[in-house]
Amino acid sequence: MPADTAHTAPDLSENIEELNRLFALQKSAWAVAPFPSYDQRIASLDRLIRLTEANEEAFIKAISDDFGNRARQETLIAEIVVTISGARHAKRSLRKWMRPHGVPTPLHMLPGRSRIEPQPLGVVGIISPWNYPLQLALAPAAAALAAGNRVIIKPSELTPRLAETLRKAIADEFDERICAVVTGGVETGQAFAETPFDHLLFTGSTAIGMRVAQAAAKNLTPVTLELGGKSPAIIDESADLDAAARSIAYGKMLNAGQTCVAPDYVLAPRDKLDATADAIVNAARKMFPSIDTSHDYTSIISDRHFERLKSMIDDARDRGARIIEVGSSNALYPQRKIPLTLIVDPPNDAGVLKEEIFGPVLPILPTASTENAIDHINQHDRPLALYWYGEDNTARDKVLQKTVSGGVTVNDTLWHVAQENLPFGGVGKSGIGAYHGEAGFNTFSHLKPVFYQSRFSSGALLHPPYTEKTTKILSILRKFI
Ligand code: NAD
Repeated sequence: MPADTAHTAPDLSENIEELNRLFALQKSAWAVAPFPSYDQRIASLDRLIRLTEANEEAFIKAISDDFGNRARQETLIAEIVVTISGARHAKRSLRKWMRPHGVPTPLHMLPGRSRIEPQPLGVVGIISPWNYPLQLALAPAAAALAAGNRVIIKPSELTPRLAETLRKAIADEFDERICAVVTGGVETGQAFAETPFDHLLFTGSTAIGMRVAQAAAKNLTPVTLELGGKSPAIIDESADLDAAARSIAYGKMLNAGQTCVAPDYVLAPRDKLDATADAIVNAARKMFPSIDTSHDYTSIISDRHFERLKSMIDDARDRGARIIEVGSSNALYPQRKIPLTLIVDPPNDAGVLKEEIFGPVLPILPTASTENAIDHINQHDRPLALYWYGEDNTARDKVLQKTVSGGVTVNDTLWHVAQENLPFGGVGKSGIGAYHGEAGFNTFSHLKPVFYQSRFSSGALLHPPYTEKTTKILSILRKFI
């Protein structure tokens, strides 16, 4: 069994002192040089890309060691490539994003002009989780640096090797007055959330997100909360079942389901419940033909999460649900791995239907109709992601229009997250705000509205003392508003 990493990064008072030192340093550097040029921002993005590439092997190893095992290809796809492509996209678009841009001015206020002039916010804090510990630290950092801010990152204590590798890599490449990492656990996280940053981006669970928002509110620090939830995958009557099953099995088994946008559960037509389960089993077997000994399949991050997932499965079994394991739990459990475990038609009170699963356990629930699927989703918290599979565009549009979720991929899983031109974020309990691409630049900027009054403005006609003439001008102006 891999070592439990849960307590290998002790919370030291030095971590909090280091946080306070870095924050004070960045604040005073900001006071001296608050508005970095386009070239300085491009240089920061180049540094971020360079350190990601230069430390690629170290990051892959650190993450795999922290998990117990994770395939290098998964880290390459979901951490390295995603981070670099996001930073490159920011580089290509930065000039356009930074440019002040005009917006229409109402007729009665012409010939004045209205513009939006983006400005950096100041010192930004980023709290990142363990599941994609590199991407979820560096992608928001890239957006914040592109927007001209200074950045401090606090990675998760559950990935201590990655956190330390990242801390060193950033320290080697960046002036700590621009970007730095502070390591530590929950206490450091609490102190971090109480620090009066100019903006705080938190990625993690909904429960901790609420505490972070409360702590930040004491300083009126604005927050972006990238949280979790139960993301449904709906298989419509019109779907190609095998294609949907391949996609769902992939989305659920990547990183062993420890993905915020993994399909949490499947809603399938009642008469296709068994066929859906069979198709997912077949797809999973093709991707992981010898899962029991495969290095392609990721371990569960800690003993606590492993036990949490096992109890969900036991609870569903005790309540009479049909359990199908793709792989042998006898072979996998000692490696702190859990086979893809399908739970067919569990009762409503099963734990697996109540909390976010965040592991390779997949309930498959029967639905009677599209309306039935919509009702099910709307009776629960708004999900971070929603997946819909099928060819019937009327049914698809009904689901898209009548449900609210952070984002959607139609006829596949996960991929909306990888589109830099789409904002990424949750809604309701799955999050507040968004980043990626221009949405990220805007999140970390103050979009300052500026009105340039004209010498020929008629505004003075409305100044006191108010007379009959003022009333007449006002009644004319009202015709134009
Ligand atoms: P978590 O909420 O336990 O921890 C996240 C971070 O918060 C860690 O760095 C941790 O040290 C810190 N922290 C813990 N307690 C804190 C406190 N009281 N104050 C401030 N910081 C504190 O989450 P996790 O287990 O690391 O990650 C899993 C969760 O994250 C899942 O719910 C998943 O859906 C969600 N997630 C969301 C996204 C997204 O982009 N929306 C991405 C990945 C993960």
